[in-house]
Amino acid sequence: MRIVVVGAGIAGTVTALALSREGHEVHIFDGAAEAARGASHANAGLISPGHCFSWAEPGVAGVALKSLLGLGDGISICPPWTPSLLRWGALFAREGTRERWLSNSKAALALAAYSRDLQFGASDIPLDDYGGRHDGILYLYGESDKPGPYDEALLSAAGEAFESLDHDGLLNCEPILHAATVKFARAVFCPNDGTGDAARYATAALGKAVQLGATARFGEKVIRLDISGNTVSGVETDRGSFKADAVVVTAGLSSRQLLASAGYTLPIYPVTGYSISYRVASPSRPRVGAVSIPHKVAWAAFGEETVRFTGFADIGVPGSVKVEERFRALEAFACEVYPEIRDAKPSRWVGQRPMTPDNLPFLGAAEHSNLWLNCGHGAMGWTMACGSARIVADLIRGREPALDLSPYRWDRYRLLGRRSAMTPIPASIS
Ligand SMILES: Cc1cc2nc3c(=O)[nH]c(=O)nc-3n(C[C@H](O)[C@H](O)[C@H](O)COP(=O)(O)OP(=O)(O)OC[C@H]3O[C@@H](n4cnc5c(N)ncnc54)[C@H](O)[C@@H]3O)c2cc1C
Repeated sequence: MRIVVVGAGIAGTVTALALSREGHEVHIFDGAAEAARGASHANAGLISPGHCFSWAEPGVAGVALKSLLGLGDGISICPPWTPSLLRWGALFAREGTRERWLSNSKAALALAAYSRDLQFGASDIPLDDYGGRHDGILYLYGESDKPGPYDEALLSAAGEAFESLDHDGLLNCEPILHAATVKFARAVFCPNDGTGDAARYATAALGKAVQLGATARFGEKVIRLDISGNTVSGVETDRGSFKADAVVVTAGLSSRQLLASAGYTLPIYPVTGYSISYRVASPSRPRVGAVSIPHKVAWAAFGEETVRFTGFADIGVPGSVKVEERFRALEAFACEVYPEIRDAKPSRWVGQRPMTPDNLPFLGAAEHSNLWLNCGHGAMGWTMACGSARIVADLIRGREPALDLSPYRWDRYRLLGRRSAMTPIPASIS
């Protein structure tokens, strides 16, 4: 089958590889000059089923109010107040009930764990090619914070391994924290999580797809999908038209706009984050990936040289003053955690997570019979990439996918957000 994949971020490149392996004729288009120039470029690199809980949690309205008053810790809402921000915000707030949070988090965990297991179980892209490690992730808390009331129950119900650590336990797990000036009181350690550079993985996956016969067309933007009745006949790009038997949309944040031309209204909204990467020669690099939950900052080492700190969540696209403020705060925090980088100059990057209100992607069949969606992965696109790609490849081949796809349906927000189905909550959570 001749298949067009729109977008060469982490979602598109691993999808192109999964489809090439199936023997399809794959053509991947991206408006940028190379793979992974969007949200996949310098993200935190955490493959983290252990903390893929929905951001729309009970009490989220209070957090939004605090951030409106300028009191939010690492979270803010960026004006202008457009209709799409208001709609997205209203839908996001609706997801903040206990039942919806549990249902959304369970569905996220299922896809994240499936994806991680596929990725870590395969050996075709060696760890060294993307600075990968399968050594676990520490989720850290201060004196006055602790894991959410259902976090451990959700992990247990999904069969995820985790360990609760006290102050001494977390220092044993991550020795660089001995020298940190910021102190953590406790942590949850998920030994089966891992880290790696998503952009390097995307480049490697694309290289493998091309070896299998895929073509990569960079600098060629898809303007619209060519619709013919209930099917897609191909795509219209800024260089001409291209026929295809099937189209997979993996355009991240821009998927919303692209799909709007075919009549879809998907609530995918940018949530901005910041990343600083240091080149570090010191042998005492972070041993495992980590997230400071109260500070909303993650860090990880990639290979022998790079240590990256990533954080914050600004809903929308911030102005330059806010961006500078965020980078200063991130750099100051990085020096507290890892004083050895005090004199190093990091390279900075700003990225936008393609967020949906329930923090779940749009994954699987669309209304048009040969159009497939793999977009809107929010803060978890690297974690969910390999599983999402396999699911799309299964569906196109006519195989039953490994997961129930109803939580990720494209039409779950039709009629202004009336949700058709929710994932059943595990019986062990009362
Ligand atoms: C600061 C930050 C930290 C993060 N940390 C993590 C993490 O630790 N773990 C995790 O799992 N996730 C993380 N994420 C989320 C993750 O990065 C994203 O979910 C993921 O990169 C989305 O991948 P994608 O391929 O869907 O989108 P993108 O990487 O944005 O790729 C979309 C591609 O489509 C192309 N494109 C768009 N429109 C068109 C068009 N019309 N025609 C042709 N090409 C088009 C773009 O050029 C781009 O290359 C983080 C995100 C940010 C911003």
